[in-house]
Amino acid sequence: MRSKFLSVVAVGALLASANALAQEYPAANKTITFVLPYAAGGPTDKAARDLAQSMSKAMGGHSIVIDNAAGASGSIGANKVAKASPDGYTLLFTHIAQATLSSFFRTLPYNVEKDFEYLGLVSENPMNLIGRPSLPSNNMAELVSWINANKGKINIANAGPGSASHLCGMLFQSTLKVDMTSVPYKGTAPAMTDLIGGQVDLMCDQTTTTIPQIEGKKVKSFAVTTSSRLSSPVLKDMPTMQEAGLKDFNVTIWQGLYAPKGTPAAVLKKLNDALKTAVKDPEFIRKQDAGGASVINDARNDPAGHKSFVMSEVTKWAPIIKSAGVYAD
Ligand code: ASP
Repeated sequence: MRSKFLSVVAVGALLASANALAQEYPAANKTITFVLPYAAGGPTDKAARDLAQSMSKAMGGHSIVIDNAAGASGSIGANKVAKASPDGYTLLFTHIAQATLSSFFRTLPYNVEKDFEYLGLVSENPMNLIGRPSLPSNNMAELVSWINANKGKINIANAGPGSASHLCGMLFQSTLKVDMTSVPYKGTAPAMTDLIGGQVDLMCDQTTTTIPQIEGKKVKSFAVTTSSRLSSPVLKDMPTMQEAGLKDFNVTIWQGLYAPKGTPAAVLKKLNDALKTAVKDPEFIRKQDAGGASVINDARNDPAGHKSFVMSEVTKWAPIIKSAGVYAD
């Protein structure tokens, strides 16, 4: 009887402190951190910084900072948030890896379905196959001939198994029935540096970071991964993979925000309200548009729509990944 009474008191105290946290959230003296599981300067980092700026504006100028916790295909950063205090001050900004890493890794230290609160998706990103500037090929037909003539000698950079660049590169190889040496980095920013320097041959990356390098003639561009051409002035004449003969090739990735499981509902609501204001911010829209990305403005901006979409992506990618037989430990 006494212990039952004590547990009722304990639950009451917990609820009272959750309510107090929610009421004062975000506290003026506490910074919100977006944990970003890839290297600084890459496309996921760029999108996170754009969102942080617009969400900060929506939260009365509250400070939001980025913590680049890169490594292990993005799973180190995701795990950091899964284990963080559920107080709304440590959030995860990540992309399609949230749906693919569980199929690539034999074991992951967190559960994608159970360890996060889903806050909303914000953008969709096409990808782009690019190559080192010294490649002898200038279009997809020449690239495919060069690949076929150099089997066993070609390498392709990515941000680790399950990352967007890896998925795209994996589909490229399986469609061409060619194996390349995969070179993993902590994100595609350091991979881009090596591609420009000629240390690696090829990479798929989000258009948000390929466009400036193509414009600056630092890399060669061969195709976009969407089913139709993009409207970006830099890429509008770039063929799709399908036009270049790679049947059914279609990769678009997405990005969103997560909180640790157990974050109070009132805190989640404040964050979701800020996210929904941010995706309507003309500045956020302009920045995504300039990078060939599109801002999501549908039911996936809401926790339920976000979660059911990610779960459907887990189901979509699992057989594709399993059939490729690529695993990470
Ligand atoms: N673009 C990377 C990927 O391939 C991640 C990044 O560095 O933003 O998943």
